[in-house]
Amino acid sequence: MNRLKRKIVVLGGGPCGLSAAWELSKYGHDVTVVEKEPMVGGLCITNEYKGYRFDLGGHRFISRNEELVCDIRKMMGDELLVSKRKSVILLKEKVFHYPLSIKDIVLKMNVWTNLKVLTTYIMAAFLKIVFRKKDISFENWIVNRFGRTLYTLFFGPYTEKLWGISPKRISSDWASQRISLLDLKDVLFRLFRLKKDTPRTFAQTYFYPKKGIGQMFDMMSEEIKKKGGKIVLNAKVSHIRVHDNHIEGIDYLQRGSMKTVNCDFIISTIPLPDLIHAFPRHLAKDVLYHADALKFRAVRFVNILVDLPDISENTWMYVSEGKYIMTRIQEPKRRSIFNAPEGKTSVLLEIPCNEHDEIWNCSEEDLLQRCLRDLNELGIDIQDKIIDYFTTRVTHGYPVYSHDYGIHRLEIFSFLDTYENIVTCGRQGTFRYLFMDTAMEMGIAAARNLMLDNVAGREKVQLMRSGGELIEVSSVTA
Ligand SMILES: Cc1cc2nc3c(=O)[nH]c(=O)nc-3n(C[C@H](O)[C@H](O)[C@H](O)COP(=O)(O)OP(=O)(O)OC[C@H]3O[C@@H](n4cnc5c(N)ncnc54)[C@H](O)[C@@H]3O)c2cc1C
Repeated sequence: MNRLKRKIVVLGGGPCGLSAAWELSKYGHDVTVVEKEPMVGGLCITNEYKGYRFDLGGHRFISRNEELVCDIRKMMGDELLVSKRKSVILLKEKVFHYPLSIKDIVLKMNVWTNLKVLTTYIMAAFLKIVFRKKDISFENWIVNRFGRTLYTLFFGPYTEKLWGISPKRISSDWASQRISLLDLKDVLFRLFRLKKDTPRTFAQTYFYPKKGIGQMFDMMSEEIKKKGGKIVLNAKVSHIRVHDNHIEGIDYLQRGSMKTVNCDFIISTIPLPDLIHAFPRHLAKDVLYHADALKFRAVRFVNILVDLPDISENTWMYVSEGKYIMTRIQEPKRRSIFNAPEGKTSVLLEIPCNEHDEIWNCSEEDLLQRCLRDLNELGIDIQDKIIDYFTTRVTHGYPVYSHDYGIHRLEIFSFLDTYENIVTCGRQGTFRYLFMDTAMEMGIAAARNLMLDNVAGREKVQLMRSGGELIEVSSVTA
């Protein structure tokens, strides 16, 4: 078949799905993106309200992929800013540098705490060498590298709040992908500038669109449409049509009516469990258990419009103590001055939760009051300066790396591998804790494999930037 005559359907219009369609449309392929929401962007959308802009949790774009950065710069021109980042950790009524710095701990903690940090660190290092202690859980991973005291002070409470389960039940994979510091020795090396690479956590500059992260994907979708690609919104994929080991098309529900698109190839970026549930039940019955075992952490965002010029100079403030409801406090204006009207600012709070739990169901007013109490205790008093507020939610904020998630994911991939014309990729499609640049790279790689008829390249796409490589990126802006 003439390659250009092939019909490709992309499930999901987030960064991964749109990047795949962007690449395919550049080469004139017949591509249709099917997205369940009324707008594209996935987790990277920006909501506008009364002249203020709020992402779903502030995003920054960092990549070491020069080709990707170059294409995004070309597409966005002057609409893309280079912003500076300053982040801190609020802990025990003190402000610490983020990422954690040894200098801060020594200067800001009392002698007793410093002694405990040092002795538990030495003990952990000793036990690790003598007994070859294994990193099974997130807790082990941190304690083996930083010692028990730092774990109890910083990492444990933050992690438990983020995931809603004990760090003992979280796989060490999350720590190894998320925490750039290898151990205290690493911190010391960086302090004395003996180590020069710039992991993502340390990157001081990043790209950010003038009008919020969503602008990047709005512009991308315009380019896709200009090149002949189609984007169908409010369209929830509900069935995969299968014949033998070939997928013939999909059904989606749009405004109450079911529609069908036939296709020659599918690039799926929707959550793995949703994809499996869309297959005919008799075919997927053996993997439904594995699909249901993959859990996602939801997030609620409280967006507050404030009648003040500034709150602080920080882009992010991490709140690790469990008694406070939020994990991060952000001031969107620090990323782009266009995120708030002149002379005003705003506050964006990230509150992890589970779908339909107490926080998820909490009324907007009660949630705001709870947040204001916490902010007040943390020294941020905006009570009398609130112009307005609203809350937003996402169901698939973070893939929960339980101990056995890898087994379930593998079973699902093996099932999908029996179909010759589908690839699943992106953050939701691989159940991996990916940043947007990797999700975009995956989408582009999936599209290129397809254009080259390289079905065997599916696994490579799904494993892109696995392990330490995911985090150890330096920003090409830096
Ligand atoms: C709070 C927070 C902060 C973050 N900050 C950063 C950051 O600063 N920098 C960074 O690089 N990354 C950040 N990320 C990660 C970034 O958002 C993701 O890596 C990126 O959005 C992944 O893109 P994706 O296309 O793979 O998935 P998604 O963005 O989740 O897109 C999936 C799409 O599929 C659609 N969909 C789902 N089910 C269906 C269905 N049945 N039918 C049709 N469509 C469907 C969804 O609506 C969505 O549009 C952050 C994430 C969170 C939660």
